[in-house]
Amino acid sequence: MSAYNPYDNVVSTVRSAAGKLGLEESEYIELLYPERELKVAVPVRMDDGTVKVFEGYRVQHSTLRGPGKGGIRFHQHTDENEVKALAAWMTFKCAVVGIPYGGTKGGVTVDPTKLSRGEVERLTRRFTAAIAPIIGPEQDIPAPDVNTTGENMGWLADTYSALKGSWSPGVTTGKPQEIGGSLGRPEATGRGVMIATREILKKLNLPVEKQRVVVQGMGNVGSISAKLIHELGAKIIAVSDVSEGLYKEDGLDIPDILKFLSTRGNLLKDYQKDGVKHISNQEMLVLDTDVLVPAALSNQINKDNADKIKAKIIVEGANGPTTVEADEILNKKGVVVVPDILANAGGVTVSYFEWVQNLQFFYWEEEEINSRLNVIMCKAFESVYDIHKEKNVSLRESAYILALKKLAAVKKIRGVFP
Ligand code: GLU
Repeated sequence: MSAYNPYDNVVSTVRSAAGKLGLEESEYIELLYPERELKVAVPVRMDDGTVKVFEGYRVQHSTLRGPGKGGIRFHQHTDENEVKALAAWMTFKCAVVGIPYGGTKGGVTVDPTKLSRGEVERLTRRFTAAIAPIIGPEQDIPAPDVNTTGENMGWLADTYSALKGSWSPGVTTGKPQEIGGSLGRPEATGRGVMIATREILKKLNLPVEKQRVVVQGMGNVGSISAKLIHELGAKIIAVSDVSEGLYKEDGLDIPDILKFLSTRGNLLKDYQKDGVKHISNQEMLVLDTDVLVPAALSNQINKDNADKIKAKIIVEGANGPTTVEADEILNKKGVVVVPDILANAGGVTVSYFEWVQNLQFFYWEEEEINSRLNVIMCKAFESVYDIHKEKNVSLRESAYILALKKLAAVKKIRGVFP
């Protein structure tokens, strides 16, 4: 059996970047192994009185550059290898943008859309209790990811604090504002995707008003990316959610679609407007467009569809949307891919701001947050782009080279214990 294992992708990407950087294996080998992996059983009393047990994971890939940072996802297809890969991507992402964190991730194998709100709350709290021994503001700081939101982070912070005996908002980020969540955090990942899109268009001398953009995914990342790229002046010709995709050649009315989706339970398949065609997710990925923003799950652009992709630029809003094989095909075709560890780093960057504010009990204005985010994203983008030009490698390779350089420098100073 050779099932798709995203962690193998990570290992091969890191090895190849290390080779281009001329690192000895001993300078980076530790990054091929997660530091710590915890697998937990999460029993939940269901509304009908029965008990179900879900399996969950928290993987701490690296704490070389600081405490571990990374979200928690609830998804029916989440497994150990996916969480390991996601944790590793956080290590490289934090290094690319230069925030003082390592990389971690958590996940529970569950379809939360099949649970009631009470069941989701009990699941979140019990999972928190199960991973409580290894998380904490100075150890490992969770955040929202696929199918988790500020509401889950509120329960997480409350549960962790109850176990500890004192209020500890810094244990998680992406919290509701009332309990220490940062202004700008809900929009941060999408804002970062918009900045990455804007910067790559500038580099390629492409006027934003002339670009057609397709956005896959209408969760937190996809919806905000679509909103902000639309506000930037580009034409969003297609969007999709779990149910279906919408397509309109001369541009969709994004504010209207977002308003429609803001009603809980509404799905794109039920959105009806003159001139708007309904298409499948697969059709959407291969539409004739200038920019494609995959902002849903991993493994969406793979060896089966990479050859059919017509976009000239891909900005990865999701984590790991492109497989290694697909990446090679896209490179050969000359498609410019702004990699996840750069393009979607806006979320964790504002998570960092939230954590700093929590530790200092001092809160910043939204304008300051957005402007600092812009500075960090643009600086990271420039550094990655410089390496891309200098070494004639893809933007993904240059992002990994940048991250590995920083990680190897820290490793060299910290050394190997004992
Ligand atoms: N889940 C987000 C990501 O994959 C945010 C992580 C965080 O803020 O810690 O980058």
